[in-house]
Amino acid sequence: MMCMQCLNVQPVGPNCQTPSCNGLSMAKYYCSICKFFDDERSVYHCPFCNLCRLGNGLGNDFFHCMKCNCCLGIKMIEHRCREKMLEMNCPICCDFLFTSSAPVKGLPCGHFMHSACFQAYTCTHYTCPICCKSLGDMTVYFGMLDGLLAAEQLPEEYRDRCQDILCNDCERKGRSRFHWLYHKCGFCGSYNTRVIKTDTVECSTSN
Ligand SMILES: [Zn+2]
Ligand SMILES: [Zn+2]
Ligand SMILES: [Zn+2]
Ligand SMILES: [Zn+2]
Ligand SMILES: [Zn+2]
Ligand SMILES: [Zn+2]
Ligand SMILES: [Zn+2]
Repeated sequence: MMCMQCLNVQPVGPNCQTPSCNGLSMAKYYCSICKFFDDERSVYHCPFCNLCRLGNGLGNDFFHCMKCNCCLGIKMIEHRCREKMLEMNCPICCDFLFTSSAPVKGLPCGHFMHSACFQAYTCTHYTCPICCKSLGDMTVYFGMLDGLLAAEQLPEEYRDRCQDILCNDCERKGRSRFHWLYHKCGFCGSYNTRVIKTDTVECSTSN
């Protein structure tokens, strides 16, 4: 480390060791454990993670969850705990989440990704890239599909057909009326389903 005032190269530390510099501060933030300093951003050291992280500090905008063993944004104080849950890569950008300094968002299914990655991803997707569960309250979207399907007339040859589907949200198997795109789960009402078999025989259930 070099002091910009006396230009002396010296061991990394919070202050300049040269007497004439009078203990000049080398950076706004200095962590003696991580030997990390930063002049521009707010940084705090989490003793549990044993890492320096971007943020105003534990109890301010971050807290450390002992069960998950990681620091989370204070907004996530109510979350589903999963052991070592951040010790994985962001499913979108593949950065290791635990050491990543960008804000992380918890998904309703318990998976995690960067907040910025989440914003970009949810512009075009509504299901978790890891487990395929819906990422938010889909009531409005599913209601719209209900209306769409109710108004649609299928060609005669498809009307009595059925498809076996697997619901990504409630993980149950069921049947739905034939459709090319949209299949509603009879248990939870989700359209987040996948077709596992298309039946050519007549539909036995009315659903
Ligand atoms: Zn100096
Ligand atoms: Zn530190
Ligand atoms: Zn922590
Ligand atoms: Zn937790
Ligand atoms: Zn990411
Ligand atoms: Zn998930
Ligand atoms: Zn379902």
